[in-house]
Amino acid sequence: MSELANQLSELRGRFDAAVADAPDADTLEAVRVAFLGRSGEVTLLRRGIGQLPAAQRPAAGKTINAAVEVLEAQLLEAERRLATGNFDAELAKRIDVTFPAIAPLRGSIHPIRRVMDDICAYFERHGFAVVLGPEIEPDYYNFDALNIPPDHPARDGFDSFFLTDHLLLRPHTSPMQIRTMQQHKPPVAVVTPGKCYRRDAVDARHLYQFHQCEGLLVAQGIHFGHLKGMLTGMCRELFGPDQQVRFRPSYFPFTEPSAEVDTTCPVCHGLGGTCRMCGGSGWIELGGAGMVHPNVLSEMKYDAGAVSGWAFGFGLERLAIVRYDVDDIRRFVENEPDFLQQLA
Ligand SMILES: [Zn+2]
Repeated sequence: MSELANQLSELRGRFDAAVADAPDADTLEAVRVAFLGRSGEVTLLRRGIGQLPAAQRPAAGKTINAAVEVLEAQLLEAERRLATGNFDAELAKRIDVTFPAIAPLRGSIHPIRRVMDDICAYFERHGFAVVLGPEIEPDYYNFDALNIPPDHPARDGFDSFFLTDHLLLRPHTSPMQIRTMQQHKPPVAVVTPGKCYRRDAVDARHLYQFHQCEGLLVAQGIHFGHLKGMLTGMCRELFGPDQQVRFRPSYFPFTEPSAEVDTTCPVCHGLGGTCRMCGGSGWIELGGAGMVHPNVLSEMKYDAGAVSGWAFGFGLERLAIVRYDVDDIRRFVENEPDFLQQLA
């Protein structure tokens, strides 16, 4: 009995020292296993009870149980002390008021929206109004009023999403030109930005949903030179002060004469060569333009002999590709924060 007491006393001396020295929870756990674990020193002592005379066993058992309670209480106390100590250390580390704060992730204006805003701002400065309209329109506004009667082959070129026989997702924003002319006598000067839809197969240059900005100016004495001046100014605003604009003859039912509009490639500054953006031509195609067809003016009850006008329509994704030197139109709709942040 006294031998057991001696052993326990010696063991507690080492246990106290080990607990006091434990720098962290892992070391403390190792101490617990060494003394109280399945093969721990106290467990071995308890197994020794079997060898004592029967009369001594109950008292020896009680002595060991009491010792175990004390040791466990000490471990618990040490655990608490360590946890509090860590917390205090963390607290001291964390509250450094001079440390720069972590900046929250900031959103930015989408590149397509930025091109749209810049074009609108340019034309607004020149007295144009920005008009927005429905994305679902009757075929009259998309085709008939634009000198594209039913069965005209030009309708096929628009490859539209029809919702009913006569309602469709607009393939261009021209319906707002028509609505404007229906509601206002000349002079009219508007730009019509917005979403458009065509049944295009999606690839690096095509999406089935895209953005357009069209422009319309109708008044007395308007001629092609006004169009060229305005579009040159727009390109210089978007791409830089040295931009040039050229017109290539084309055909659209709603304008006469009609032209494809190109601007000097802002990536190679018109030099061409091995430029990837313009394919070496030095020019970038912007879209279509021309003088408003007299049939369209007459349909709007305008006097085609007294007023004239021009119109243009550009795809904004195309402008954004060139402006931001992006290789794939799909990147604009993938909601990839890193990509958008890069262009912000
Ligand atoms: Zn180029």
